[in-house]
Amino acid sequence: MEFGKFGGQFVPDHILKAVKEVEEAYNTYKQDPEFLHEFKTLLHEYAGRPSLLYYAKNMTEDLGGAKIYFKREDLNHTGAHKINNVLGQALLAKKMGKKKLIAETGAGQHGVATATAAALFGMECEIHMGAVDCEKQALNVYRMELLGAKVVPVQFGLRTLKEAVDSALMTWSQELDTTFYLIGSAVGPHPYPVMVKDFQSVISREIKAQMLEKEGRLPDMVIACVGGGSNAIGAFADFLDDKDVKLVGVEAAGRGLNTKDHAATMMLGQTGVIHGMNTKVLLEPDGEISPVYSISAGLDYPGVGPEHAYLEEIGRVEYTSATDLEAIEAFEYLSKKEGIIPAIESSHAIAEVMKRAKTLPKETIIVVNLSGRGDKDVKQIAKYQGKTLID
Ligand SMILES: *Cc1c(COP(=O)(O)O)cnc(C)c1O
Repeated sequence: MEFGKFGGQFVPDHILKAVKEVEEAYNTYKQDPEFLHEFKTLLHEYAGRPSLLYYAKNMTEDLGGAKIYFKREDLNHTGAHKINNVLGQALLAKKMGKKKLIAETGAGQHGVATATAAALFGMECEIHMGAVDCEKQALNVYRMELLGAKVVPVQFGLRTLKEAVDSALMTWSQELDTTFYLIGSAVGPHPYPVMVKDFQSVISREIKAQMLEKEGRLPDMVIACVGGGSNAIGAFADFLDDKDVKLVGVEAAGRGLNTKDHAATMMLGQTGVIHGMNTKVLLEPDGEISPVYSISAGLDYPGVGPEHAYLEEIGRVEYTSATDLEAIEAFEYLSKKEGIIPAIESSHAIAEVMKRAKTLPKETIIVVNLSGRGDKDVKQIAKYQGKTLID
């Protein structure tokens, strides 16, 4: 296993063949200077990297404790960290001679990112999405279609993300020669968790260089939200060996850890297999995967990347959680205090820094990974606050 007892390739034989092909290709290209140069150029010229490291002066002064910086992944093209990963995987798919990208999506964020990369690379793109989610996220369905993708509404079971995964995998298994399965977080069978971490680790490499330039030293703490765990592992990667840098992952506690309505896998999950990996997973007493809930679609996942399960086990990363209410408070706070509307996912990490900063001395430096921008969430927050917006 790649991460202690976590990781692995728990997939049926016919899919294992394709996963092995991705593994071999990645092992080759990850050390190919031309591949690495092309990836770096895409991050720079297309995604707009490096993203800024911003000192949040108003918030720091208002909370009256630790010095707070934000890593501005919200400023990337398409408004979140997801673009880093989809550019890397799409480039690999192209090198492997694949003609088509396939992915599943829940609320549509990963679907839109994948469709974006497919448009850029001139590849065919098929996004599987539960029919219920298609209705809820009609705007994202249209966005994907605008970008040239075919959206397949999945009509079986509960018609949400879980069925979309099954449907995408089924289609992939029928066209393994031409199609690349693009996974949206640091999850799935090996090599995906490692590959996604590598593609996202540009976040922590930049934080390190920018912090050394601004403060002449490393931060004391890095905080990131955890759904599948890709923005968090990207923000942590380059600090894993710097033992003095405290790393904190924040999950969605939804309506509270004492209710069934949460997605706090690291906090309350058990060891088990989900989506081809051995990791922590939220299970029902009968062993079925739990239905999960969070106000934030991006954190609403019953599993977590296997490296997070490992990093908790060895005590390197601390995992905690924030409720819907705490996230909404953080969403509104950052908007008013800094003029930055954060994604509701990222707002979970902001809630954590709001709890911690005031208890820490002024010399302490905390970096929060601002994984995405919140334009997509404005309508939902307004509704939550009982405001009716007229289109
Ligand atoms: C998708 C998403 C997340 C959650 O995904 P991770 O893989 O856990 O990073 C977090 N923030 C934003 C803005 C997202 O779009």
